[in-house]
Amino acid sequence: MDDRNAADPHRDGPTGAALRTIGLHKSFGALHVLKGIDFTARKGEVISIIGGSGSGKSTFLRCLNLLELPSRGAIEIGGDPLPLDYRGGHPRVRGQKRVEQARARIGMVFQSFNLWPHMTVMKNLVIGPVTVKGVSKGEARERAEGYLDKVGLPDKRDAYPAHLSGGQQQRVAIARALCMEPEILLFDEPTSALDPELVGEVLRVIRTLAEEGRTMVVVTHEMAFARDVSARILFFDQGLVAEQGTPGEIFQTPRSETLRRFIGA
Ligand code: ADP
Ligand code: MG
Repeated sequence: MDDRNAADPHRDGPTGAALRTIGLHKSFGALHVLKGIDFTARKGEVISIIGGSGSGKSTFLRCLNLLELPSRGAIEIGGDPLPLDYRGGHPRVRGQKRVEQARARIGMVFQSFNLWPHMTVMKNLVIGPVTVKGVSKGEARERAEGYLDKVGLPDKRDAYPAHLSGGQQQRVAIARALCMEPEILLFDEPTSALDPELVGEVLRVIRTLAEEGRTMVVVTHEMAFARDVSARILFFDQGLVAEQGTPGEIFQTPRSETLRRFIGA
């Protein structure tokens, strides 16, 4: 990624892919978790990832956002390869600034919300744009108000996270990710920590974002949701994409016994 490219982050790459990985591996010591993930998300595509516990779904998302460094393989954001360096067996990214630039292009929403507990909702929303992206405080507040409206929480700007329900906290977390205006949004089981009656309000917000044509990768156990919103679904099994296809292909004509069993479960 050179500076010319960085100036136009919404430009498509040569492959037209918003996000791509080639042969992505990740090991933790002797534990080989990701075993060569080839993945492409086109601009505007919603891709769901399903799979059993421990199959590497979270590790994959964390590698995309460089919260974990892959052990091998390539990641491209909008056609720009991340400067990953594996020489000497010590993975690193050449230039801390590059890490921040790459992360700013990919928003992430976690299962456990991860809001700052000592900050109001508004402060949670403006801090990233102001400190990481150099947006003025006034503009950051305006943006935050717009996205709080979008997630249906315009009256919660002065509340602290502890005073919100889990569903409200997760909607704030989604607004916080949107405030960074990322090119791609990653969701790691965004409704798994919620009481059943709060799942719907969060899925509704994510569905709205899907309908707006945002590029999103959603790890989820909500099968009906995955079937409704996704262009494609990837089934992870033991660190590999064991099967992928349209929702129809995955749910109506699963090829492998493992996927049949998983869906049946
Ligand atoms: P999933 O999200 O599909 O349930 P994860 O990606 O969280 O799976 O985990 C895949 C495997 O990697 C599991 O065996 C898990 O224990 C292991 N793992 C994940 N993160 C770490 C870590 N930081 N250190 C060591 N092992 C890890
Ligand atoms: Mg996980």
